[in-house]
This record gives sequence, C-alpha cells and structure tokens, in this order.
Amino acid sequence: MLYQRSSALFSEAKKVIPGGVNSPVRAFKAVGGDPIFIEKAKGAYLYDVDGNRFIDYIASWGPLILGHAYDPVVDAVTEKAKKGTSFGIPTEIETELASLAVSMVPGIDKIRFVNSGTEACMSAVRLARGFSGRDKIVKFAGCYHGHADAFLIQAGSGAVTFGSPNSPGVTRGTAKDTLLARYNDLESVRTLIQANENEIAAVIIEPVAGNMGCIPPHETFIRGLRQLCTEAGILLIFDEVMTGFRLAAGGAQEVLGIKADILAFGKVIGGGLPVGAFAARAEIMDYLAPEGPVYQAGTLSGNPLAMSAGLAMLSALNNDREVFQRLAEKTEYLHRGLAACLEKAAIDHHINRMGSMISIHFSSAQVIDFDSAAKGNNDKFKRYFHGMLREGIYLPPSAFESYFLNDALSYEDLDRTIEALGNIISEI
Ligand SMILES: *Cc1c(COP(=O)(O)O)cnc(C)c1O
Repeated sequence: MLYQRSSALFSEAKKVIPGGVNSPVRAFKAVGGDPIFIEKAKGAYLYDVDGNRFIDYIASWGPLILGHAYDPVVDAVTEKAKKGTSFGIPTEIETELASLAVSMVPGIDKIRFVNSGTEACMSAVRLARGFSGRDKIVKFAGCYHGHADAFLIQAGSGAVTFGSPNSPGVTRGTAKDTLLARYNDLESVRTLIQANENEIAAVIIEPVAGNMGCIPPHETFIRGLRQLCTEAGILLIFDEVMTGFRLAAGGAQEVLGIKADILAFGKVIGGGLPVGAFAARAEIMDYLAPEGPVYQAGTLSGNPLAMSAGLAMLSALNNDREVFQRLAEKTEYLHRGLAACLEKAAIDHHINRMGSMISIHFSSAQVIDFDSAAKGNNDKFKRYFHGMLREGIYLPPSAFESYFLNDALSYEDLDRTIEALGNIISEI
C-alpha cells in the first residue's frame, strides 16, 4: 500500500498543528511511521486519501457502534442542520434524548449534556465534591478520564501514594487531591480510605477498563469497591464514556449488576458528534446550577445537531437490543480466530475481551492492571500493527487501547482480519 498523499498531508499539518494532530494517539508515536489521512468512511470501512481501504476496528474510538456514516444519524443531522445548528436556548430534542437515556440506564433520574467525555468526568467530580463537601478523589492507575487536570496523575512504580502530576502544567496542588489506587486491587483502595478518613468525595473508575487495553474488573473487586464506598460515604463514579451504550443498553452497570452514584458518558451517546453527559439520581443532580450551587455550563451544550445524532443512535440501539449480543458474538469469533493464529505460531499473548471490546497483549502474563499491561512487548506490537495495516486492517495505534467492534463488520470482514494475521504472523 502507498501512503504518499497521507505523508505529504502530515508534513503540512505539522507546520500548523502541534504534532500534526488534534489528539496525540493519532500521530502513531507509539508505533512509528506516519498516520494515514482519511477521505471518507462507510459501514466497517475507512478509505484514506491514497485510495486504500481498511477494515476499521476503532470506530472513531468507540462512538460509531453501528458503523461509519450510519444512515439514520446522517439523515437526522442533515435535517436538523437546515433549521439552525445552535441557539443557546432550550429545544425539545434535549428532553427527548435525556428521557431516552434515563430510561435505558439503571438508577439515574436526571442527565446533563456537555460536549466531551473530558467535560463529563470533570463535571462529575466537581458535582461529587460539591455534594459531599470533601476535596479528594481516588482514581486508578491506567484509567483514563479525559484530560482535565485532576486526572493527569500517574502512579509511581507500584506505589499507592499521593500522585505526582504526569503532565507539566498540572499543579502539585491539584495532584495532591488525586489519590491513586491499583485496578483490581481492593486492598489499595481500602488503604487510601483508611488514611484519608472523611476526606474522599469520590472514587472514579472505568467499570471495564479500556484505556490500558481492555481489562474487565474481577467480580470481588468491583463488588467490594461498591461496598467500601457505601460504608465510607464516598460517591462511586462510573466513567462509562467508553462502556455506556456499548456493553449493553444500560452499560457496564447492567452487565456487572452494580449501581454507581454518578455516571459519565461520551462516545456512543453522541453518535459521532461531540457529546458527553453526566447523570445521577435527582438528589445529586439537583445540586447543579441553576437548581443548586455547583456551577457547570456550556455554550454549545445540547445543541440540536449533537442531540439529533445522539437521539438517532440511542433510538436505534434501544429498538434493537440484540445488537449488544450480536456484537459480543462477533468479538468472540474474532478472539478465537486471532488466538488460534497466535497459538499456532507459539507467540506469547493474552487476549482480554468483554462485549465488543477486545485487546491483544504480547505478554505471557495475565493483564489485570496497569503494571501488567505495561509488560507487553511493544516491538512485537509495532510489527503486528504495521503488518495488519499493510493488510488493510486498521487497529488502534497503541498497545494500551482497546479495539471497538461495530455492527457493520460482517463475518467475512472478521475472516479477512484473521487471514491477515496469518499472512503477517512470521513478521511478528
Ligand atoms: C474517551 C474517554 C474519555 C474522554 O472523552 P473525550 O470525549 O475524549 O474527552 C473519558 N473517559 C473514558 C473512559 C474514555 O474512554
């Protein structure tokens, strides 16, 4: 495959956009080489500016669960656009999407729309702090909650201690209020709660982690976490930006059978347009302005274009709830096929999967948290990634990302993907 025009466009982009991209992972830093530039996409396929076609396993990092340029979403947005794209004044469709989301997700009465997952998580934490009157939060190493300051905190090597910022520009003052625990390690949470009695407002977690590869929670861990939070009067925030409306109509809460106190959404809820949301029972949500004292706002929040895309997407999912099972079966099929190839070639690997999320780790150890995810062989991953790209398979360009399957993928596409791995396996 030739990527001539993509490479030329990347050179131009780098002159006027830092690193040539508007979100870092897109730049292929972790795998080397230049990113491809996309011309268009439809269903399961991406078409780049050099005329190459790829089977896509990212789906814009999750939102496009029914495939690219899904007709009902495109039609809804096109129709709405003709009537004006934003008013900054209430519209009926905001209530329609809110009602539908509230009916699909367990345990929430009210929802507020924002413009990204970052905003959703940031606002959820502010609300938790305002509601509880406490300052500190607990997050888990390797969990991503967007790029707000409070979340850009990483664990020192295995230490469960006060976080230090892992990006310049995040102040120590901010970092000291973010405590770090280890995913799937309940004891690490218990230790923090005991050392910070009555100071922790919330624990925020990806209920199924997807930003260190896909890592499902151990049942005892996630149940124990719910119990610890309840006992200590700490609000449990499920960041369902990735899992919401993807793992099930009711997201990870439904799959795991556990209810959080506050939920954050993004990705699928916007159907491919910039939408985030956070939600909770009325008692908590009524703490938000203008009803309550916690401030949160947005000029373009709930704009009709974004709402119409979200409404078309959630309506489609709500009307065809078998889609989640269908996607899980496709993902299992892919899992079996890829695993058989890797086993035949005796390549050390672990594949993690839940619903339509899956990741391959080139590691002989189980991957259950950030430390074990970081032990994967990145050289193998790079060769795998570029080999598959050459075969026309577009995978996330980082070993720390989950793949997101979309329902436009056919079994022929999955077979083609497995065959592609067979073709390049000797290079890995
Ligand atoms: C993508 C993601 C975010 C951030 O959402 P943006 O829309 O990129 O700001 C937050 N949390 C999780 C779990 C995510 O996957």
